[in-house]
Amino acid sequence: MNEYDSNRVYDLTNKIDYFKAENLNEANLYVLNTCHIREKATDKVYHDIGRVKKQFRKKKKPIILVIGCVAQAEGDILLKKEKYIDAVIGPQSYHKINEIILDLEKKQNPINYTEFDVIEKFDSLNSIKNSCNKISSFLTIQEGCNKFCKFCVVPYTRGAEYSRSFKELIIEAKQIVNNGAKEITLLGQNVNAYNFEGKKLSDLIYEISKINDLQRIRYTTSHPKDFTQDLISAHKDCEKLMPLIHLPVQSGSNKILEAMNRKHTIEEYQKIIDKLNKVNSSIKFSSDFIIGYPGETLEDFKQTKKLIKNVKYINSYSFIFSARPGTPAFTLKKISQSAAKERLIGFQSIAEEIKTKYKETLIGRISSVLFENKTKEGNKYFGRDEYLNSVIVTSNESLVGKIKKVKIMRGNHNTLYGETLSNLNQNNYAA
Ligand code: SF4
Repeated sequence: MNEYDSNRVYDLTNKIDYFKAENLNEANLYVLNTCHIREKATDKVYHDIGRVKKQFRKKKKPIILVIGCVAQAEGDILLKKEKYIDAVIGPQSYHKINEIILDLEKKQNPINYTEFDVIEKFDSLNSIKNSCNKISSFLTIQEGCNKFCKFCVVPYTRGAEYSRSFKELIIEAKQIVNNGAKEITLLGQNVNAYNFEGKKLSDLIYEISKINDLQRIRYTTSHPKDFTQDLISAHKDCEKLMPLIHLPVQSGSNKILEAMNRKHTIEEYQKIIDKLNKVNSSIKFSSDFIIGYPGETLEDFKQTKKLIKNVKYINSYSFIFSARPGTPAFTLKKISQSAAKERLIGFQSIAEEIKTKYKETLIGRISSVLFENKTKEGNKYFGRDEYLNSVIVTSNESLVGKIKKVKIMRGNHNTLYGETLSNLNQNNYAA
């Protein structure tokens, strides 16, 4: 979502004649977009600002803006501790960035803009064309969250659930496709809670799939509670909808899910997985896990391990519980950190084993790959298959923006290497 926001900030600042600087030391405006989901986010801000300070030691300083969720959560502290920062702007106030910059050009007082003006924000953004021209582009359709999981900062930094206008989203999706996008990932903190005047995420997927040049649709991140039957059916009926679903579960134990206020049980979660597998057997899953949540016993942890073995997630993103200031879980008694670390290592080794086995099954198979760019190494092209696996192919013709059938020849943990079928056929013919 920060990538989408950064692009929109760029579109906005263009309006007052700020454009991308080639080098940091040429910049007269420095915008740092931040994420607050993990610990050390604020440290990173100070570190980054320190780097800029060093560059501008002997020159007039650029205007320094810290935007995003760290600005929202810790804006006052940032302004107090780091005088080099000119303004902090929360994620729901960045549409005011031009006003703020023009103000700062005139005067020096640090500014804190952390109001929740989400309606006003999207009203302003809707009038500015989205200039993103990536083959695979993001489109924010929903922001905020009403779920209040006890460990999470999102309801406090992004505010309550808000769904953007259906009509405006179709307009923006068409703009992005006109700019060259072949794939759109619909974004939201609770993307499947999207509801604009009764139009749901599945309605949006069907409507966007009518855009001719758009080849692939994805969405993230979903909450199990909002995984309704219409969305499940879309995975059967909409060919452009990719068969990889990121469905965070956080823990395999009902006791811990309840303690986290996740609002669903493991049985309910498993039911969604089963239904999805039933409507489309090619679907695979990825998920997020918090290891060592306060109160997690060895038995709870065993249930999490059992779950990953059952679902066989092709990607599992796991972290030790990180207490975020301002959340209800912040004050809970932590479990022993050495036990949490040990569990994380155990968990990750199972997750890796599942992933490695999965990757091995791809060798020799034909994948459908959308190529995003040419790499720095000669005629090699980078793309992703339907499951977001990275694939590299050597080709004399430009593959950017094309979907090709690729035979996977080899691979390692991060990347698969293959040859396009057209290339293979040509070589066979020549032989
Ligand atoms: S549903 Fe997701 S975004 Fe909302 S509070 Fe829970 S973890 Fe955070």
